Order: sequence, then C-alpha cells, then structure tokens
Amino acid sequence: MNAVERFLKYVTYDTQSDEHSTTFPSSAKQKILGEALAAELSQMGLQGAHMDQYGYVYGWLPATPGCEGVPCMGLIAHMDTSPSAPGANVKPRLVRYEGGDIVLNAERGIVMKAADFESLAKYRGQDLIVTDGTTLLGADDKAGVAEIFTAVEYLASHPEIPHGRIAVGITPDEEVGQGADHFDVEGFGAAVAYTVDGGELGEIEYENFNAAAAAVTIHGVNIHPGSAKNKMKNALLIAHDYVGLMPPAETPAHTEGYEGFYHLSELAGDETKTVLQYIIRDHDRAKFEARKTFLLRAADYLNQRYGAGTVEVALKDQYYNMREQIEPHMYLILKARAAMEAVGITPMEVPIRGGTDGARLSYMGLPCPNLCTGGVNFHSVHEYIPTAALEQMTQVLIRLVTAEPKR
Ligand SMILES: [Zn+2]
Repeated sequence: MNAVERFLKYVTYDTQSDEHSTTFPSSAKQKILGEALAAELSQMGLQGAHMDQYGYVYGWLPATPGCEGVPCMGLIAHMDTSPSAPGANVKPRLVRYEGGDIVLNAERGIVMKAADFESLAKYRGQDLIVTDGTTLLGADDKAGVAEIFTAVEYLASHPEIPHGRIAVGITPDEEVGQGADHFDVEGFGAAVAYTVDGGELGEIEYENFNAAAAAVTIHGVNIHPGSAKNKMKNALLIAHDYVGLMPPAETPAHTEGYEGFYHLSELAGDETKTVLQYIIRDHDRAKFEARKTFLLRAADYLNQRYGAGTVEVALKDQYYNMREQIEPHMYLILKARAAMEAVGITPMEVPIRGGTDGARLSYMGLPCPNLCTGGVNFHSVHEYIPTAALEQMTQVLIRLVTAEPKR
C-alpha cells in the first residue's frame, strides 16, 4: 500500500482526543485505530508489534545483517486528532489544484479562498487531499503515521537496503498534551528518534519554548464600601496593579520568532480574592528564568505596598527547549536536511512557538527533533495535504534510517 492509500484509510477512523477526559487514552475510540495499526505492523513483519494498555502502538524492524551495531533509530507519530474541529465522518476528497478558490462543499457553500490561504499558490498543478468543509482532515498526524508505515514496509520488503534496528511508536493523546505521559522510552529502545508531526514540506524543528505557568493570587480585605476608608484592600484593584507592572509589549500579540512573552490567560475574582493565570514562554533559558524572577519581584513590590502576604505567586515549569538535548546529536538535523534536499524538498528550520511531545521525550532521554508531514492548516476544516508530500516524506524517512554504506 502506498502512503496516500494508507492515509485515506486512517482518516476514516475518528480518533479525536478529549481535553476534558479523566481517562487514558482520553477517548477509547483511539484504541480502535491503535489495534488496526498494531496488526498492520505485525503483517509487515515487524517484531513485537502490539498496542499497550494505554493505547501506544510499538513495533520493531530488526537490523539488516552487518548493521546490528548501528544505534536504534525511532520514528514517532500520533494517531489522535485535535479537539479544535470536528473529527468524525471525515470525507477526504482528491482535487487537482489549478489555482483559485477550492469549493470544499458546494451544497453548504463552503469555500477555501486562495486569498485567505496564501500557501495554496505553492501547490498549483498538484493533487491535494481536502475535506468536505465540515471536519478536519487529520493529516495532523495521520500523514505522519502513513509516511512512517510506508517507509518501514518498504524497508521490510527490501532487505538489501542496510539499516540498523528501527523502532516505530504511535502515541495517543498528543493533541491534549499527554502523548508523552506513558511513552515507554526504555522499552522503545531507540538511541534517538524523529517525530513526524510538523506542517508544511521542509520544516525541521528542534527548538521550542521553555514554558512555565504562574498562578498569582491576590488576597484582599473586604469591608462594607460605606465604611471602608483606610481599611479595604480590593483584590481586584491590586490585581489591576499587578497586570500594570508587566511589560506591555511582551505579550503574544506583540512577539514573534525567538521573542518570549508573558501571557495573561485568565482573571477571576472579587474584592476578597482574585486569581490571575499567566503563562510565560522564552526560547532562551536564562531569559526564561529572568521572566520567572520578574513575576516574583512584581509580587514583592506590591507586598511592600499593601502588606506581606497580599500577593502570592505559584510557579510551575511545564516543559523546556529541546535544543539543549538535541545539540549533542546535531547530526540528526544535518541528516534530515540532506535527506530532504535529496528528494527535492527545501529544508526550513523554524523555532516552535509552543511545545511538542518530542520536546518532552527529549527530556525523558530520547532526543527527538520534529519533521514535517507536508500537511497544511492543521486543526481546521481547511486542512489539506498534497499527495506528493506524502510520497516525498516517505522517501525522506527511508533515507534517514538507511545506514551509510561501509567503505
Ligand atoms: Zn500533531
């Protein structure tokens, strides 16, 4: 089966994860695709192919003779789809793109306008897989699954191509931030890995934010407003003071690239107690630490003004920039660049303004840069993927795991 056929099959499974769930995986339906994927790996001849109790699918292709000493390489994707757009009854459709708008659904008048989606222009003359405008497509990340499986199937049926041991891992619940939670790094046994979960063709990602969350609690003193003079401490107004101390231009709305920020995501309370929820993000570890210190200093300043204990800050680190973990293995990036160039893709390295499961896996002992799938407009009904991208990324993966010929 080629990558396009595989992809079209996988998107018919509804594997939407659920951010409000308390179970793991967050939706049981993910395991239906999980079972099918484990069976498929087994049919291809991978060893130990199985789905575990959490819904993770693993399988291993043994090294070819003479390559037993080559470090085991992992390939990882996720099978769940985002809760941000409907994920059931996906009806993929193949269109030859000749430019202009694409009518996704004539009946309902849903159109993907070329003016709104500039990237379409790059794919003129290509076959695109699009949605019917009512659901996401699921290229994030079933394209990654299809590319990995097709690459591994090719290698399993071409034993003359030398490669070390290859570990395949498909995770549930990436879209709800839990894809790394129960990943069995030790059992996986790979020295290094790639996640195949990025967007447009060419993306190679190995830098992401350092991330922390802060809950800022303001304790006020409430008294009947008629007799409050010199007694009331209104937590809402002190919260306002706190927000006013934050640098106004260092917010998500004013930053890009490597620029970090403070983001106020929630403000809730009354005169007695008000809680502000912040997230802070920075690629640079020293600047990240400085931002955390700044939040504490702002609290100290207000405590001097309003009394000790008025403002409390609870900080929690969430994840770190994987760059630190990838740097000792920069050959992974060089190899990815070379493999892309060899199949006609122009590599682009972009810092991620967010986190990835690969970042968490990198800190769990599995250095894990992220590669593109070739998909566009993730998490939306406008998601699409060129068929050529599925085939090209399959070729890239085959090159990445192929062992260097001995001299
Ligand atoms: Zn994804």
